[in-house]
Amino acid sequence: MNQSAATYLGNIKDTVQSFWHGMSITLSYLLRRPTTIQYPDRTPLPVRDTLPPRYRGFLEVDADICTGCQACERACPIGCIQINLEKDAANPKQRVVTQFDIDEAKCMFCGLCVEPCPTGAIQHTREFEASQRSVRNLTFRWADPLKPFPVYKVAKGAEYFPRAPLGSLVRAKIEARRWDAPPPEFLPPEAPKPPAAKAPPPAAPVAKPSAAAAPAAPAPKPAAAAPVPEAKPAELLKAAAETAAPAAAPAAPAAPSPAPAAEAPVPTTPEVKP
Ligand code: SF4
Ligand code: SF4
Repeated sequence: MNQSAATYLGNIKDTVQSFWHGMSITLSYLLRRPTTIQYPDRTPLPVRDTLPPRYRGFLEVDADICTGCQACERACPIGCIQINLEKDAANPKQRVVTQFDIDEAKCMFCGLCVEPCPTGAIQHTREFEASQRSVRNLTFRWADPLKPFPVYKVAKGAEYFPRAPLGSLVRAKIEARRWDAPPPEFLPPEAPKPPAAKAPPPAAPVAKPSAAAAPAAPAPKPAAAAPVPEAKPAELLKAAAETAAPAAAPAAPAAPSPAPAAEAPVPTTPEVKP
C-alpha cells in the first residue's frame, strides 16, 4: 500500500515538472522577436519591391510602342496570346490592333514572347498577385475592340522606345478588377462538362478484356502458319513422286534381262529335232 502511494505521488511530481518545462519554453518565445512575418500587410516593403530584377511576373503590353508584328504571339508555345489586326476604317493605310489578349492563367512565364519583341512593348513585371474568383478574369485585354489602337511605326534607326513605367499598366488593371468580378464577356461561355462523359471510363476496363482478347487473335496466325508446313510436305511428296519416276525408269532396263531368258529355250528345240 505504501509503495503504490509513493508511485502515485511520483507520477504527480513528474506531471508538474514536465508541465513547467513545456511552459517555460513557450513563455521564453513570448519575449523574443518573431522570426516570421505576417503576409502581406506587415512587410516593411511591398513584396514586389523585394523580388529580383529578372523576376517574371504578369506580362504587360505598352500599346503605345506595339508595332502589331505579332512576333510575341508566334513565339508563345502554348498560345496564350491572341492578337488581331484590321485596317482602320477611316484610314485604310493605317492598321489597328483590335484584339490583344493574354491569358495569364495559362501562361507559364517562360519569357519566350518577350525576346522577339522589337520595341520592348511586352515585358514581364513583378506583379504576381491577382486573386480572382473566376480564373477567366486572368485574361488581360490590352486592346479594346471598340477603341483599337494604331500600330506603332518605328522611326528609321530608332534604338530607344519610350515605355510606360514597368508594372504601372498591369497594376492599374489588377486594381480596377474586383476579386469577385463576373467572368469577362469577351470570352465565350465555358462549355459545360457532360456528366455522361464520366460513364465511359467504366467501359474502358471492359475494353481492356477485349484488348486482352486481342492477343487471342494472333493465335490464328500460327494456325495460318501451320498450313505452310503442310504445303511443304505436299511439295516434298511431289518431289518424291518425281524422284520415284526416275527410279522406275531404271527398273525398266531390268525387264530386258528376262527377255534373254526367253531366248534360251529356242536353242533347245533344235536339239530335240535331231
Ligand atoms: S511567357 Fe511564355 S507562356 Fe507566357 S505568354 Fe509569353 S511565351 Fe507564352
Ligand atoms: S508586343 Fe512586341 S512582339 Fe508583340 S505584337 Fe507588339 S511589338 Fe510585336
